[in-house]
Amino acid sequence: MPSPAKSNGLYIVGLGPGKAEYMTGRAVEVLADVDYVIGNDSYLDAITPLLEGKQVIRSSMGKEVERAKKAIELAQIHSVAIVSGGDAGVYGMAGIVLEVLEHAGATIPVEIVPGVTAANAAASVVGAPLSGDFAVISLSDLLTPLEVIEKRLDAVFSIGIPVVIYNPRSHGRPDNFALAMEHARKYYPLTVPIAIIKNALRNDGTNPVITTLGAIEKSIDEIDMHTTVIIGGTESRIWRMENNVKGIITPRGYHRKYLY
Ligand code: SAH
Repeated sequence: MPSPAKSNGLYIVGLGPGKAEYMTGRAVEVLADVDYVIGNDSYLDAITPLLEGKQVIRSSMGKEVERAKKAIELAQIHSVAIVSGGDAGVYGMAGIVLEVLEHAGATIPVEIVPGVTAANAAASVVGAPLSGDFAVISLSDLLTPLEVIEKRLDAVFSIGIPVVIYNPRSHGRPDNFALAMEHARKYYPLTVPIAIIKNALRNDGTNPVITTLGAIEKSIDEIDMHTTVIIGGTESRIWRMENNVKGIITPRGYHRKYLY
């Protein structure tokens, strides 16, 4: 049995994109202090060294409501961390845990520990594509109807800003990404740059692919559920680094005001 908790409470913790050094200090501290850690297998595997001496409850994808209920039940008397990849509030566990907590009328202490979300991790490996306003859209239609996703895509592409696509393509819905590109082509020139970033800031990370809206069809097979795609905005451009490596810059507008 676990030792009696120092105090009860629930921590909803974002673990960052993958590599240990991209976790926040607070996330490391909380994981060191709690009695229980709950999460889905792939995230728990990534933090094995931090789980020594803990009670670990492994859950699987699609079992989020069950996981939230279990965490809340345990947190009545223990200290419990429920973990998500990236930021726990961005397509993560924070929302559902707070909803279940509210519904249960429970009054346990809760702390949400933010993490580096995939948009920031992915942007960092290709330059500065998100330097001004940008939008984030998930193509997963498990919880959001596809027609709503399509409306949102039209809304953000119609204002010309960079769009970060989460959950771009899976076996269950191989066609949503191509559909999103059809919406992009209604508003953006074919020269708009696109970055395909798989496993950003993870140990198994690969080199990102930089392409354009006109050539994206050739790279669609590279895109899976471990990938974030950044569609540049109308002002974004390809950035050529040394060794002909490419990235993306979205100028924020300094060139309109300063000489450099
Ligand atoms: N809470 C997470 C997002 C969960 S949704 C966060 O804040 O990052 C899952 C999607 O996030 C994946 O399909 C992928 O699009 C994206 N993602 C998460 N981690 C990633 C990484 N290290 N590299 C690239 N994409 C990632």
